[in-house]
This record gives sequence, structure tokens and C-alpha cells, in this order.
Amino acid sequence: MLKPKRTIVTGGAGFIGSHLVEALLHEGHEVIVLDNFVTGREKNLQSVKDNPRLTVYKVDITERGKIMPYFKDVDWVFHLAALADVVPSIVTPLTYHGANVNGTIAVLEAAREAKIERLVYTASSSCYGTPHVFPTPETAPFQPMYPYALTKYIGEEYVLHWNKVYALPCVSLRLFNVYGPRSRTSGTYGAVFGVFLAQKIAGKPFTVVGDGTQTRDFTYVTDVAHAFIRAAETPGIEGDVFNVGSGNTYSINQLVELLGGDVEHIPKRPGEPDCTFADITKITQRLQWKPMVRFEEGVQKMLHVIDDWADAPVWDKQKIADATKEWFAYLGNSKFKN
Ligand code: UDP
Repeated sequence: MLKPKRTIVTGGAGFIGSHLVEALLHEGHEVIVLDNFVTGREKNLQSVKDNPRLTVYKVDITERGKIMPYFKDVDWVFHLAALADVVPSIVTPLTYHGANVNGTIAVLEAAREAKIERLVYTASSSCYGTPHVFPTPETAPFQPMYPYALTKYIGEEYVLHWNKVYALPCVSLRLFNVYGPRSRTSGTYGAVFGVFLAQKIAGKPFTVVGDGTQTRDFTYVTDVAHAFIRAAETPGIEGDVFNVGSGNTYSINQLVELLGGDVEHIPKRPGEPDCTFADITKITQRLQWKPMVRFEEGVQKMLHVIDDWADAPVWDKQKIADATKEWFAYLGNSKFKN
């Protein structure tokens, strides 16, 4: 049995972060959550709030001076705090650069000063843009299509650079379409699960992009949480990068069938891939990790907690057209073509 570790989870009150916090506490570790609660929510940590091994601090990771003290005597740092979503990153790229790049540098510097044992960075499969090889290996070319993807990619470059220059023991995980309970239920137009579940509750049609034959590597959130822990505890992988995926890819039409309901079609969005599908050979071999939750099972688990999306915004064709107008305006004219 591994000795319990003192860990930091930045963004620990967020969707993926809160599942990682639960998994770390379950394995006996001590967890310090740093979260600015901009998109993170207190209720995401409801199940563990009375655990004496958990402490939660409201602090912004970009404020290096303020976060530094929390890193004292910490063994593992899981850096998940970031701004997500495509459209706001196109509208306010500097805000995204601040949170995702400057925030990452501040965390790296705090980790370096504290001489931590391992830092795990949350990278995104969006770094591959519209890939040409499926399943897509870690060696595929980079092609970030919008500022969110670019900032997460630059963050990864910083992490790997800090490993090279300062020997900071870092690992980067490139996550593919994570879904599960506590995925976002409010705010801007975002990931498909939240959109469809709110539409289902309201008895409205699912807004299917294009003909719905496009596929995504939907990866269940508890599997992702375990990948983070394996990335922290596996020796000899510093400076390396791993895809985290489900080992499969599923069409939006398959998702609609599993959820059950009517459909209305909306236009295909510029710059979005027809398929995301991770090659997970490397992570399965090197980290002895494998995805456990099948898609059908994961969708059922989401349907069990569908009431969590009862207050979520209900999107329709017109609202989505308004919410994505910058996306179409800028990326429709961009130099990247699918
Ligand atoms: N999607 C859809 N209707 C929506 C939102 C998304 O059909 O209202 C599709 C989208 O075309 C994509 C998939 O769902 O194939 C996942 O979209 P999401 O925005 O969650 O992730 P990403 O496109 O970044 O992989």
C-alpha cells in the first residue's frame, strides 16, 4: 500500500476536479483544493465536504504569491483549473491566456519552489484539431483551431519545458470528451451532454449538429480521475504525454438513440472534427490504466442524475445560432480548413 500523499487539486470544485478529489480521498490521500469558484461549485464537493483530509481554499491560481504557501510539503499537484469552452475563448482570448497559460506558469513556479514529487497537467485533445489518423496517437501534429485549444496546448508546452529546464517531474494528460455527473449545468453553450440532457427534461428536440454521424471519444469522468492518479504514482514517466480516451468512438446519432427523443438539425460548425478517437496504447501499457465504464453504461448513469440539469439553460436552434455567431464569423473565415 502506497503511503498517503499530500496533494493539491487546482480546479478541484469543477466537474473533473471534484471527481478526482473524491478518488484521492477514497484512496486515503490528503487533498487541498484551490479553486476561484468562477465555474467551480461548492455543491460539486458535497459528498466529501465533511472529510477531515479535505481542505478547500477560494483562491485564483494566477496569483502566484497567494497560492505559494499552500504548496508547502505537497507531494502531488494535479493542475485542472482552467477556462473551458470554445466561443468565449474566441471572444475574450486574453482572459483565456491569463487563466490557462499564466495560471499554469504560476502553478509550475509554486510547484518548483516547493520541490513537489509529481505534477499532472490537464491537456486537451483539441490540440490535434481535425486529425487525419484514427485512432490518433500522441505523435499526431498539433493544430489548435481556436484560442481555448491554443492556450491548453501552450500550457502543455510550458509544463514540458519546466520538466526539461528545471527537472520538474511533470506529466501531461490529453483528455478526450470527458462526460459524467456534474458536467456543466449553467452558463454558455458548451459540451453536448449538458445541452441534450436539459433539452430532454424540457421535452425539446435534441439539436444535432450536421447529420449526427460525426463521432467523439466520450470518456467517463471516473475513468479520467483514475488516469490522473496513475499518472501521479507511476515512476519513470516524467516529461511524457498520454492520451486519455475510452478506446472507442461514438456517433451523436448513437447518443441520441441511447437518450431517446426527437431531433432538430443545426449547421455543422467550422473547425470541428468529424471524429475524435484516442489511441490509448501508450497509457494502457505504461500506466497500466484502462477505461472501465462503457458508453452505454455511462449514458445510463447520466440519465439517473438527469434532474441535476433541471435548471440548466435549454438551447434551441435559434439560441445556438446566436450563441455561436462569433464561432461562425471567425472560424468560418479562418485559414484552417477541415
Ligand atoms: N453536438 C451536437 N449538438 C449540440 C452540441 C454538440 O450535435 O448542441 C455534437 C458536436 O457536433 C460534436 C459532439 O456533439 O460532434 C461533441 O460536441 P462538444 O461541443 O461537446 O465537444 P467537441 O466538439 O469539442 O468535441
